[in-house]
Parts: sequence; C-alpha cells; structure tokens
Amino acid sequence: MLSRQLARRVVLRVPRRWSHSPAGLTGLNSVTEEDLAHFAKILPSSSILSTLSPSATPSSELEPFNNDWMDKYHGKSTTVLKPRTTQEVSEIVRWCNQRKIGIVPQGGNTGLVGGGVPIQDELILSLANMAKVRSFDDVSGILVADAGCILQSLTDYLAPHHHIVPLDLGAKGSCQIGGNVSTNAGGLRLLRYGSLHGSVLGLEVVLPDGTVLDQLTSLRKDNTGYDLKQLFIGAEGTLGIVTGVSILAAPAPQASNNVMLALPKFENVQPLYKEVKRQLSEVLSAFEFIDRTVYDLAVKHGQGRALNPQDIEGAECFVLVETSGGNREHDEQKLNSLLESLMLAEEPLINTGVLASSPAQFSALWAIREGLTEAVSKEGKAYKYDISVPLNKFQEVVDKTREHLRSKDLLHENAVKYVVGYGHVGDGNLHLNVVAAAYTPEIEAALEPFVYELVASYRGSISAEHGIGVMKTHALQYSKSPTSIEWMKKIKALFDPNGIMNPGKVLP
Ligand SMILES: Cc1cc2nc3c(=O)[nH]c(=O)nc-3n(C[C@H](O)[C@H](O)[C@H](O)COP(=O)(O)OP(=O)(O)OC[C@H]3O[C@@H](n4cnc5c(N)ncnc54)[C@H](O)[C@@H]3O)c2cc1C
Repeated sequence: MLSRQLARRVVLRVPRRWSHSPAGLTGLNSVTEEDLAHFAKILPSSSILSTLSPSATPSSELEPFNNDWMDKYHGKSTTVLKPRTTQEVSEIVRWCNQRKIGIVPQGGNTGLVGGGVPIQDELILSLANMAKVRSFDDVSGILVADAGCILQSLTDYLAPHHHIVPLDLGAKGSCQIGGNVSTNAGGLRLLRYGSLHGSVLGLEVVLPDGTVLDQLTSLRKDNTGYDLKQLFIGAEGTLGIVTGVSILAAPAPQASNNVMLALPKFENVQPLYKEVKRQLSEVLSAFEFIDRTVYDLAVKHGQGRALNPQDIEGAECFVLVETSGGNREHDEQKLNSLLESLMLAEEPLINTGVLASSPAQFSALWAIREGLTEAVSKEGKAYKYDISVPLNKFQEVVDKTREHLRSKDLLHENAVKYVVGYGHVGDGNLHLNVVAAAYTPEIEAALEPFVYELVASYRGSISAEHGIGVMKTHALQYSKSPTSIEWMKKIKALFDPNGIMNPGKVLP
C-alpha cells in the first residue's frame, strides 16, 4: 500500500498556482446541504464523507481524496461519496446531472497526470466500496469484476485458478481495475499481452445522465456495429463512470524468469533488444530499460536487490528481461545460453548479467524496476513525461532535456537535481522524469513546451500510457490533429452535454 501512504501526506508547501483556475468549470454548481440530504436517501451515512454535513467529516479525512499521488495537484472537494452498487452510482449521477454538479470518478488515486482529483470543489465519487469479483470462468479465462477491485487483489484471486490479469504495474497494491481501464494503463505486461483495448471484453458504465450502459458481455467475438466500450477505455472518466469490467485473464505461465543486464553504453540497447527477441522469441515477456542515474536512486532508496557494485562499474544503463513460458528447464536453458552468448561475444553488448535463481531473487530484481517511480518521488518533486518516441531516441531525449535545463541554469541542487529515463522498450515508451527540489513556475516554463516540441519533432506521443488528465490538456495538439480534437469534443458533448463528468480533464 505504498502509494496510499504517500497519498495521505498533507500538503502545505505547494505553491498556490497548482490550484487551477475556475475557467474550465464554468456553469457547474457546488455541492450543498440540500444535495447531501438527497445523497443520504441513496447511501448509508458510512458512504458519505462531507465537511458540509451536520456531523461534518474533518477536512483532514478528505485530504487523501483531494491530493494526488505526487502531491502535485490539489482539489478542494467538500464531499466524497462511496457507492456500493451500480444502481447507487446511477442515482447519484442522475442527481448531479440535474443539479449540474461536477463529478470526479476516483479509483486508487495513483494516476500521474492529476486526472483523479478535483480542480475545484467537484464531488468525488470513489469506487472503493465496489470491490467484488462477479464471476470467473476458468475455461474461457473471462473475469468479470466490479470497477473498484484493486489490481493486486484480482491477481491474488486468479492465482489459485492458474490465471493472471494481463496487466501489471508498480501501483498494483492501490490502483483499481476501473482506474486501469479508464487510463488504458499499459504497464509491464503489454509486450506479451497487448493493450486493454484488446483484453477488455466488456464494460458496464454509468453515463453522465445516470443511464446504465450494460456492455458487460463476455464474448471473444462480437461484430455488431460500433464497439462503444472502446470509447471509455482511456477516457479518464470524462464520458462516464466504469462500474464493471469483463476482462480476458491469461493462463498463468508455468515458469517465469528474469535477468538484469548491465550495459556499457546506451547505443547497445537496440542491438541487445534485437538479439534478445531473436534468442528468446516466444518466451520473452518484458524488456525494461533503466538508466544509470535512476538505477542508483532505486538502490539508494532500498528498492529491490542491487547488483554487485564492482560488476557494474562503468555501466551506463540496465535492462531487465523477463521470460514467461510453459517449461522452466527450457526457459532457463534459453536464458542461460542468451547470457553466455552475450558475455562471450567478441564485442559484448553487456558488462554483466544477474540471473534470478529463486522466486525471491526474481521478485527482488523486479522490485528495482517497480520501485523506480517511488524512488524518484522520495528524491524530490518529479515532473513526469510519459512519452512514446523511437527507441533509438530514448537517450537523446534525456540528454537534450538535461542540456536544455543546464543552459537555463536550472541544473543544480536547488532547482533540478536529476533528469532520468526509464521505460518499456518493447512498447517504445520512455518515462522522462525531471526531479526537482520543488515544483516551480521557472522549471515548468523551461520544460514546457520544450519537451512536447521535442516529442513532436520525432512524431512521438506526449502520453504513452498515463493519459492527459489536467496536466497535458493544453498540449494535446502536439499529438492530435485539430480534426481529431474537434471530434473528441463532439463525442464529449454528445455523452455529457452538461459537462459534469470529470470537468477540465483531457480536452483543452
Ligand atoms: C508507482 C506507480 C507506478 C505506475 N506505473 C504505471 C505503469 O507502468 N503503466 C501505466 O500505464 N501507469 C502507471 N501508473 C499510473 C497509472 O495510470 C495508474 O496507476 C492506474 O492506471 C490508475 O488507476 P487508479 O485506480 O489509481 O485511478 P485514479 O488515479 O483514481 O484515476 C485515474 C483516472 O481515471 C479516472 N477513473 C478512475 N476510476 C474510474 C472509473 N471507475 N470510471 C471512470 N473513470 C475512472 C479518474 O477520474 C482519473 O481521470 C503508475 C502509477 C504509480 C503511482
């Protein structure tokens, strides 16, 4: 529950400029005591947290809901509702639509673009009380679950049935499947299992007028016209509230293995990826890039099992390779011969490699990769750019950003401390993190639009997997054409004419 603990931190030192202006929320109303009286007819008192109610909730209890995981975005909501059923969600939404009250759907609040917290005092609708598995069929592998199920709990649920969720990410102890779907989360298994646009089979969604759209089918094939569910995957709560998810779970691999490779220079990553794909072929399930600076931060903050310092002297970056297959001996043999051929090559692509030899070591190597986001957040305030660029540009993006900040005299202890890169090589997804002593207007002005222009110059995407949220609404045009944005706005207006659903997010 690491993310929860961080999310609970009270925020006092953040500059006021991070409270967004009311401009995006024109025409919406605040929750009143009359609204609360209505909600009390729908929900038990234990499902209502409000600083407005007669037995007012202390505002400190609302802080974890109003502040995001990074302590960067801060809302001022007076009211959090925690419905237990789709019917309750529907009744709340119908009332809010009539009263024109903005709603922010909230899952585990681990999102990294400020999408899950209010801009002002919108009502927060938390899915935390909707956390039941509805059904699982171990023949087809189809899992149907409430949107509020925590990703790790679904993983635990499926384990005895020899299946896994086709999605894994560092925030799995807190994020919810509804939040994953709503952000179209990518994560660590995308290379093997593809995106949620493929593995989600159906959704149940409460639309902005309160109507329940039941598309919770569990069919692998269904070509009956427009595939509406796709609109809600990655909509970040702007088109409706996901209340149920049907997803195709994957058979659990019989054997998983991993190896951490240290590379003398970044230029070796691309040839290494080619070689690893060639040798491991069908058992390759992850290929994750970690630059030296962020590796050192992970080690400093005790994430995972560090490699022997002597062995990695001079290493410029690291790659974590995972295999998942049906036969342990066969996979181990493949990994061993890969390592051997890499080490014995005339011009070795790697300095060294550490192969996990037990489940504990396997987890410890993954913990380095999964702990990077947290290590960065312990080091300072991170500006996070989650971008898609060609693989051979990963290091160039990091280096150019660092040089740019240096040229602005912002690269020192009191401003930007580190510029680091890590990410999912197989998906062309780089996490560029600029770690600063504090969030300041100067640093932000130096980074934006610089980073977005750089990404656009490679015809990349300004958001590979974290979404747009409130952070990147103004930058959407770097990755979407005016025609695309116009049609996105038309779709939003069609579903949500009153603009109550997660106002101020995604669209400029
Ligand atoms: C340590 C860490 C590691 C991460 N690693 C990855 C990674 O590898 N890959 C990746 O893609 N992301 C990653 N993320 C970010 C990722 O987007 C989120 O962790 C996750 O997908 C969001 O789920 P959540 O339940 O926390 O949603 P929240 O943060 O609560 O919400 C995110 C957005 O979805 C909306 N939303 C939430 N639930 C619903 C719902 N039921 N219906 C409609 N809208 C809803 C919210 O309004 C908001 O716009 C990471 C985050 C952390 C903190």
